[in-house]
Amino acid sequence: MDKFSPFLLLSLLFLLACQGEVVEEKAEPSSEEKTDSAVSLAPAEDTAFLYAEARRLRQLEIRDSLLSLEDSAWVDLQQLIPQAEYEIRYATSNNFMELQVYDCPGCYSRLAVAKSLMKVQQNLDSIGLSLKFFDCYRPSSAQWALWKKTPDPRYVHPPKQGSMHSRGNALDLSLVDSLGRELDMGTPFDYFGKEAYWSYTQHSEEVNKNRKLLRQQMQAAGFSTIRTEWWHFVYKAQRFPLSNWQWSCPTDSLEPKG
Ligand SMILES: [Zn+2]
Repeated sequence: MDKFSPFLLLSLLFLLACQGEVVEEKAEPSSEEKTDSAVSLAPAEDTAFLYAEARRLRQLEIRDSLLSLEDSAWVDLQQLIPQAEYEIRYATSNNFMELQVYDCPGCYSRLAVAKSLMKVQQNLDSIGLSLKFFDCYRPSSAQWALWKKTPDPRYVHPPKQGSMHSRGNALDLSLVDSLGRELDMGTPFDYFGKEAYWSYTQHSEEVNKNRKLLRQQMQAAGFSTIRTEWWHFVYKAQRFPLSNWQWSCPTDSLEPKG
């Protein structure tokens, strides 16, 4: 954000305050005002525009402050890639283990990883597509919770070795069209069977084309794949240490679960 933005933001807030006063006058007009057709009120869409503009500037400010952090810093991908879709499955019981392991949804990665994902999304913007994230950084304690439920290395990476998700290096994702509809990748996310392998060639032409696009986009930005999961990508340039850092949840999302 350039150095004039705070001034712009303040100006907008001032304008919003003025608009508020005008709206109040409208709510309780005096008898004189009722007959005075010269009183002009700002259209509601102007107020909406100013609010949207103030919000946009605030988002740019947050984005710039995140981008100035060091490569290993945890960043919220929803702030840096707001046009992507987020359906964090382990914050619900809608996953292959039917186990909620996060108190609330969060999609975080290391900043270096996020910058590469931003490049992917930028390319996708030009063809009307977006990323859709199913899982991002996974604290070590969450990996232990998954392992406790299913201590089988075919399905869960043993937490002693550490998952690339717990390093902030790995993401589970797919592609969606401009209406938010997932592109057909042949199997759902977290489908454990040979149909989810990259080497499986019996899918339709459409599925093969979608998978190829996803793989090409991610590989071009420095991500590698694993043989058995089309949705899992690992950032290659740096390997970050395992972590148990936890993102914070809004207090109303921490109600005791029934
Ligand atoms: Zn994964």
